[in-house]
Amino acid sequence: MKLLIMGPPGAGKGTQAEKIIADYQIPHISTGDMFRQAFKEETSLGKKAKDYVDQGLLVPDEVTNGIVRERLLKDDCQNGFLLDGFPRTVAQAVTLDEILFDLNTRIDAVINIVVDPSILVGRLTGRRICKNCGATYHLTFNPPKTLGVCNECNGELYQRKDDNTETVENRLAVYNNQTKPLLDYYSAKGNLYSINGEQDIDEVFVEIKKILGGID
Ligand SMILES: [Zn+2]
Repeated sequence: MKLLIMGPPGAGKGTQAEKIIADYQIPHISTGDMFRQAFKEETSLGKKAKDYVDQGLLVPDEVTNGIVRERLLKDDCQNGFLLDGFPRTVAQAVTLDEILFDLNTRIDAVINIVVDPSILVGRLTGRRICKNCGATYHLTFNPPKTLGVCNECNGELYQRKDDNTETVENRLAVYNNQTKPLLDYYSAKGNLYSINGEQDIDEVFVEIKKILGGID
């Protein structure tokens, strides 16, 4: 199963990704992990990418694409994978299709987790983090026993600066603008599946499995 997962911040993409890779026994390929691995293994592309990062520059597409290609060629990807955070642009999606075409394969499904922006704002602005141990809470979904105090260590809970309403709304707008063309691209190819991410975590996963079950 060769999959791509998409969804705005707060949609529960990470949780669903974990469930998918456990159930289908495929590697989770996030952009961050791919880069860390290439740096660690000191591949020539990894070194190139690191030069850009060290200089505080954006890694150019051709380097990123090369790192993706190296990763998808590894043995553990031969029976499938779950891509997360790549592609980010239509240009990268086209390149990904070219890489997969070379490998004689294609993306089976693009899973897009959809949640109404007003609900995302509530989810993201409700997050609280312990200053001392880093434990995370949510005022609605996972509240601490005592308001403002960590259950684990009695540390003080705080709200991350970019979790305030205005910043969250901006982040969501940026995400939507960047992602819209990508969703249109996959929609036109006919392998985009939009999932209602406003349901329970388990219900979302049941829906994903139903869709994937109909594919293979
Ligand atoms: Zn704590």
